[in-house]
Amino acid sequence: AEAREAYAAKRPKSAAIHAEARAVMPGGNTRTVLFYTPFPTAMVRGEGCRLWDADGNEYLDLLGEYSAGLFGHSERRILDAVKAALDAGINLAAVGEKESRLARLIAGRFPSVEMVRFTNSGTEANLMALAAARGFTGRVKTMVMRGGYHGGVLTFATEASPVNVPIPLAFTDYNDPEAATRDILAEGDGLAAVLVEPMLGSGGCIPASVEFLQALREATRRTGAVLIFDEVMTSRHGPAGLQGLTGVTPDMTTLGKYMAGGMSFGAFGGRADIMAVFDGHRPGALPHAGTFNNNVWSMAAGCVAMGEIFSASAAEALYERGERLREALNAACARAGVPMQFTGRGSMLCPHFRAGPVTAPYRATPAEDRLRELFFFDMLAAGIYLARRGMVALSLPVSEADCDRTVAAVEEFIAARRP
Ligand code: PLP
Repeated sequence: AEAREAYAAKRPKSAAIHAEARAVMPGGNTRTVLFYTPFPTAMVRGEGCRLWDADGNEYLDLLGEYSAGLFGHSERRILDAVKAALDAGINLAAVGEKESRLARLIAGRFPSVEMVRFTNSGTEANLMALAAARGFTGRVKTMVMRGGYHGGVLTFATEASPVNVPIPLAFTDYNDPEAATRDILAEGDGLAAVLVEPMLGSGGCIPASVEFLQALREATRRTGAVLIFDEVMTSRHGPAGLQGLTGVTPDMTTLGKYMAGGMSFGAFGGRADIMAVFDGHRPGALPHAGTFNNNVWSMAAGCVAMGEIFSASAAEALYERGERLREALNAACARAGVPMQFTGRGSMLCPHFRAGPVTAPYRATPAEDRLRELFFFDMLAAGIYLARRGMVALSLPVSEADCDRTVAAVEEFIAARRP
């Protein structure tokens, strides 16, 4: 309660913005992840990896728009590309040359992606990948992971599948190769697809073991289900995403977040024979429309983001920076001897307030929930903005000095809050 009061005292304008929003928007927002009590901080400006809120407080932005903000808030080349695209005319209801350029850039990077199509979000990319798998196999059911997240209508934090899930589902456990193999084989030729994040993102930055991904690969090969890696977040982890790092190649991959330089974006791609279900040159092709699929600002920004800025070496450098930060944070936790750790890979990490390996989603205790909330408010008080659940997604402008400052802030949190 004390931390919440201190938080609220410094943010009267954010409180007022929230009060106004609540009158016309349930919960006062249009993105569930941006909700927390007593009210969320309203931001008014961003530059590089800095943010300023409505009350004039400044932050180091370690949230990086939940991984979509990889280029920071003011990358000049992206701003120029978007402005030039808009100057040439807002959406033209026609194909353009930029979309095939961006498609070539993406297909050139991910081993599983021979053909690709664009959407407006990662959620849509997953829905369309599932449509492709169902069209290709003639089957209906999809297997997902307990604790997985693939977008607003594909949220599987609990086994009770939420009412807004639009498709028939089967579940299995993350990082349990034997159970997954058994569950996939039991579904047999009823299963159209297995959809998995090679690292749980929203589920707490929990990486999959290579053995687990290999088990999914092997079992889906046996039953003919389409294996889909949701790399909406993890594609940033290397030149060829997490599939490149793990060496396990799915049949299809879904992408999104940062790839259009921070503009709205999603993409799904995969084997040419599967993606051919959308080929309008063939009779009976599946529909995949979408007014904004090739909108001019996302396509233009995407070509610059993927063609000029986020090169293979930039991806490797960002991964290394994140690894070093996570190691430094974990070293600080170990030195203090507290049950706290940061999981993740590369530039994405998440705190857990328990000892021992975290390899699967778990139900947090009330004590852990309290620490997570305190961590969030203490980091905000230190001028560091991250997700309410503590997740960090580094952007390119975040410097080594910013990482050092983060480690110091976490050390202060531990010193102040240790039992
Ligand atoms: N898949 C994963 C792994 C995600 O983390 C997210 C978003 O956080 C999505 C899909 C959904 O993407 P979007 O929010 O663009 O619909």
